[in-house]
Amino acid sequence: MQALDSAQLYFSRAASMLELSDRVTALLAGAHREVRVQLPIEMDDGHLATFSGYRVQHNNARGPMKGGLRYHEEVNLDEVRALASLMTWKTAVVDIPYGGAKGGIAVDPHRLSDRELERLTRKFVSRLHEVIGPDTDIPAPDMGTDWRAMAWIMNEYNKFEGFNPACVTGKPAELFGIPGREEATGRGVGILSLKLLDRLGRQPQQTRVAIQGFGNVGLHTARFLQLAECQVVAVSDLSGAYYNPQGLDIQSLIQYTHQGDGTLRGYTEADALGGDELLGLDVELLIPAAIGGVITAENVGQIRAPVIVEAANGPIWPNADDQLIESGVVILPDILANAGGVTVSYFEWVQNRQHYKWGLARVRQELDRALSGAFEAVWQLASDRSISLRMAAYMLGIDRVREAVDMGGIR
Ligand code: NAD
Repeated sequence: MQALDSAQLYFSRAASMLELSDRVTALLAGAHREVRVQLPIEMDDGHLATFSGYRVQHNNARGPMKGGLRYHEEVNLDEVRALASLMTWKTAVVDIPYGGAKGGIAVDPHRLSDRELERLTRKFVSRLHEVIGPDTDIPAPDMGTDWRAMAWIMNEYNKFEGFNPACVTGKPAELFGIPGREEATGRGVGILSLKLLDRLGRQPQQTRVAIQGFGNVGLHTARFLQLAECQVVAVSDLSGAYYNPQGLDIQSLIQYTHQGDGTLRGYTEADALGGDELLGLDVELLIPAAIGGVITAENVGQIRAPVIVEAANGPIWPNADDQLIESGVVILPDILANAGGVTVSYFEWVQNRQHYKWGLARVRQELDRALSGAFEAVWQLASDRSISLRMAAYMLGIDRVREAVDMGGIR
């Protein structure tokens, strides 16, 4: 199973429940534009290395296309296609005026120096600047990229197209970014987890949480949930998993990542577990916040958590998802759970276009409002139709895009 098979399967299930015509189904299934670029750069030692970059622009019926830029060695066109379509449904679920896109470069960013990463990012923009921009397609951070890459993208784009900070989001707050963007995805995961727990009659104080991934999303999710009095008992990253049944000290874990290689390798204030053991822990809430395809038909039997919130994109393959739903596990799907990032990216874009600065309190308040509205709509549809939250989120998102296509006609 690949990310694209998974995205297509969920799309076709939702399309058939919505009874979409073949014409509309075909229109929504394919991408508007797919670009692959060759990225040669000079490495620090003088040799020439070549990387592959991708940008897939899936759909713009509801507005300019929006989606992250991922740096990971396994990035490929099919994965980017899948993630671009998820962005179209995600922006529609949270009802912001965007379509969906995604990009990536097949590179392990940890193997490149900062200067090499900068050259690579600038080369990517120099190859693509004609087809991205504030009214067409706006990149943002994703796995392996952060505010630094977004600042380079803005700078390089401006060289070609003139000053326009709204061409990319996730920029540093000091450089046309917005306060609260860095925490937004994790904070959103936290806000939505609390809403879900509340609907299920569970108290945060009685909720033990395990989080896979301690990067941007996992770290901010952990911090938010601990402040909300959940007990975060396990987190993991590429170096392994760290467990304390009494609850981890998230602040000390965060500080630890600021030393050494940025991972939790060598952290001794908790029990070390094998990375995959985290998924099978006896907890009330499991949050995969690292990579796609981590819960599969092979390991689904190990899952003991009754509630899963998908902070990562596509962490559960459909055959495992079917089994979990059958056994009564409640799953909050990625296209709603991790929509906090794109929602605050939208606020950043609005701020850039208005040349006006928003404060953190306003960003948080508006984020809460947007996610609460989306959660209520998805929960209501799932209850009314007796379907999973995933199917409800897909149906809501796809139907909103369908409506825009119907009203606007084919452009
Ligand atoms: P990141 O690069 O900041 O962090 C990824 C983390 O996952 C790191 O701690 C890494 O060590 C860990 N990891 C990688 N492989 C792992 C494995 N096999 N087991 C355990 N840990 C592993 O990335 P991020 O921005 O936090 O993104 C994480 C996920 O959230 C991705 O699926 C991404 O698409 C999704 N997402 C991110 C954003 C965003 O705003 N950053 C928005 C929406 C969705």
